[in-house]
Amino acid sequence: MEMFGQNVFNQSVMRDRLPKSVFKNLKKTIDEGLPLDPSIADVVASAMKEWAVERGATHFTHWFQPMTGITAEKHDSFISPADGGALLEFSGKELVKGEPDASSFPSGGLRATFEARGYTAWDCTSPAFLREEADVVTLCIPTAFCSYTGEALDKKVPLLRSIEALSTQAVRVLKLFGNASVTRVTSTVGAEQEYFLVDKSFYLQRPDLMMAGRTLFGAMSSKGQEMEDHYFGSIKERVLAYMKEVNEELWKLGVSAKTQHNEVAPGQFEIAPIFENTNIATDHNQMVMEVLKRVALRHDMVCLLHEKPFAGVNGSGKHNNWSMSSNDGQNLLEPGRTPHENAQFLTFLMATIKAVDTFAGLLRCSCANAGNEYRLGANEAPPAIISVFLGEQLADIIDQIVAGKTKSSEMSGHMDIGVSTLPSLPKDATDRNRTSPFAFTGNKFEFRMLGSSFSISGPNIIINTIIAQALKEFADVLEKSTNFDADLDKLLQDTAKKHQRVIFNGNNYSDEWVQEAAKRGLPNIPSTPDALKELISKEAQEVFAAHSVFSDKELHARYEIMVEQYVKTLNIEALTMIDMANHSIIPTAIEYATTVAASVNAVTAVSSKLDVSTQKELLEELSDKLAAMSANTKALEKALEEANGIADADKQAAAFRANVFTMMLELRSTGDALEKIIAAKYWPLPTYREMLFVL
Ligand code: ADP
Ligand code: MG
Repeated sequence: MEMFGQNVFNQSVMRDRLPKSVFKNLKKTIDEGLPLDPSIADVVASAMKEWAVERGATHFTHWFQPMTGITAEKHDSFISPADGGALLEFSGKELVKGEPDASSFPSGGLRATFEARGYTAWDCTSPAFLREEADVVTLCIPTAFCSYTGEALDKKVPLLRSIEALSTQAVRVLKLFGNASVTRVTSTVGAEQEYFLVDKSFYLQRPDLMMAGRTLFGAMSSKGQEMEDHYFGSIKERVLAYMKEVNEELWKLGVSAKTQHNEVAPGQFEIAPIFENTNIATDHNQMVMEVLKRVALRHDMVCLLHEKPFAGVNGSGKHNNWSMSSNDGQNLLEPGRTPHENAQFLTFLMATIKAVDTFAGLLRCSCANAGNEYRLGANEAPPAIISVFLGEQLADIIDQIVAGKTKSSEMSGHMDIGVSTLPSLPKDATDRNRTSPFAFTGNKFEFRMLGSSFSISGPNIIINTIIAQALKEFADVLEKSTNFDADLDKLLQDTAKKHQRVIFNGNNYSDEWVQEAAKRGLPNIPSTPDALKELISKEAQEVFAAHSVFSDKELHARYEIMVEQYVKTLNIEALTMIDMANHSIIPTAIEYATTVAASVNAVTAVSSKLDVSTQKELLEELSDKLAAMSANTKALEKALEEANGIADADKQAAAFRANVFTMMLELRSTGDALEKIIAAKYWPLPTYREMLFVL
């Protein structure tokens, strides 16, 4: 308890250290989203500095989240010269605004290098914190990052905008249910984070892990995850010691790390915090990823956050548990106890279903990157088809709403459908379904398609915005209503009829579902470049503009960045593969073949009667595979050169997917075939057995 939040300039610290009026003023901005009063900045900055310096801080940094998906910072010391000596200073101006030279961050053409100015602006709704590294203590101030002309250059600005949009529309709907006191609604998120750990010595011997964060070659070990003995297994001492330190670091930062366990694949683990508002949950998930990586090094391990570090065993994802909560303390996705509460619950539930169905392509897009391409649709993560799992009882209620008539409910005897007569819904009525991309889990939805390396900002910007849109359409209709109950009934029925197709309670991994989904007209977008295009569809542009989340210009910039990141990632991977093939795998195969050939000669020289068929067969196999390896390496080089020569970004991405991606798979399979027949002492790379099972 003493540890929790000890490195956070949180509300209780502020209450102690700020003049009452300043604290009240700031709290208004934090709790009610009112604009920040600039006159309090100096006082807050000075209190923040004193608190930080007492704890050993010498520097401060604006901590922001550019489009790289990781965080960025530039450190300034508190020192300013005075009378030949020095003072420790931190002004309101320094707190509120920073000016990093922003030309080296991805901007998607929003900022030319010659006008490189970018601004970071204090986000007082996410608390400042101290980072302790070795003996260096730094005050980190969460900030938003935008261009000179006000365009968002980061993952925070649009997230805050989307939270605002959701709040506005959700409050409108709550008012219709007679709630006069609610003024704000915020989305809440709990992000379960998966990761792998490998021994650092192996990592340092694998160019692919170092350059690409995943193995680009590697034959599967004789054992993988088939014995199902790792998931929830007892945690090894070395890993426990690591997790203990991770938890302590996170608790100090006010991150409520709660659950930890072994995951499905050997060497794979999960950590989950307790949910909080989406802005802070997003900042905290970035801290979780940073801490996981940093602490691993102290234990001579490396934490891999890549979506697919090892072929043949599960990759890593991130489950984004999402709900909405109002500032009078309601979880809007909690089934109620009274018919009135249930009508409200069903309204928010139906809005979510409508949003997911209408904007399925955008949701798919929010989870598209080069790494996640190996998971979605590969029977270990939800497929690339978006659907909603509701569980039997709720699906039954939706059926009845569609039918529009009284029927007995699945579990609770007789029921009437109608706002005033809805039954009370038992809590946790849903069974678990692990295969659904968007699953209702009792009082929240779990969006399961995210990749482990993602900032959760992108997917939540989209979820918040599309649900804001659905709620807006509901409010537009209902605000004009003269008979609320009847009109709500009709609205829910119409919506259920139209969007029921997105509900699926079966096994999302089955081939039947792929066919069934096609029949229902649900989009199935396996390729990343295709999925990314959804971001700039006409519907996407309209919905983002309607809620002031992205201007068209910002949206296109983001699209450009994502396409570019896809291409760059594949380019690095292909170059690394070519490097490994030419500098380690092919020379090793030649060396080994030479040894085998020498053995044939040596043995035959002793006596021509001796049987050298084993050596000869092996030599033949080696030579064949070596030739294939060399041919595939050249083919990849060629595909890469061609793809890199394409000027148009969309066409280039398509060529990378169609040719480079495919050739990489081919090359990998020849490399792995060689690994299987080359003597262990010649093989230059740590094996899957070592990387997955030595911890
Ligand atoms: P599972 O592994 O079964 O999916 P966990 O207990 O590991 O479940 O994770 C559930 C996550 O959902 C936790 O992070 C939890 O805090 C979060 N959660 C619970 N209620 C809400 C809510 N109302 N809004 C958002 N997230 C929530
Ligand atoms: Mg989960």
